[in-house]
Amino acid sequence: MSGAYEIEFAEPACSRCACCGGLSVRLTRFVLRSQEAFAVYYASYANNHPDAELSLLVSLGDWGDESDPSQRVAFYCRVRSTDEAYEVMLDDAADSEWADAEIMGRKLSRQEARTHPQKADALELWRLVRGDLGRGGESRLRSNWGR
Ligand SMILES: [Zn+2]
Repeated sequence: MSGAYEIEFAEPACSRCACCGGLSVRLTRFVLRSQEAFAVYYASYANNHPDAELSLLVSLGDWGDESDPSQRVAFYCRVRSTDEAYEVMLDDAADSEWADAEIMGRKLSRQEARTHPQKADALELWRLVRGDLGRGGESRLRSNWGR
């Protein structure tokens, strides 16, 4: 991972999952690269769901003060944890829980995301998220996530 990234951390929002009463954790993160606004991502995870899936919406593009959502695109990633590894799948952002989050920019379909020139950046962001999940301040998420 490049040392030039910085993540602005804030406390995760925890709530009871509407569907099962388990713990639901949501994160919003602002990411800087070389001191410039680079990306925003949302992550969410529910501890009580059998598929143990983490959802991630990564918005890349212009996040400067004068920017507009039309200058950004949003990648939807679904992440599963297995004993050996994380499996990251790109999927249709319009089907994500953040389908109405206009600020994140245009929602890419799975096919668009797979062929998008910034796909590598979106996956680089996932590597940042993975480090984020391991931070002590979010031990609750980490312990639920199991890594
Ligand atoms: Zn639930």
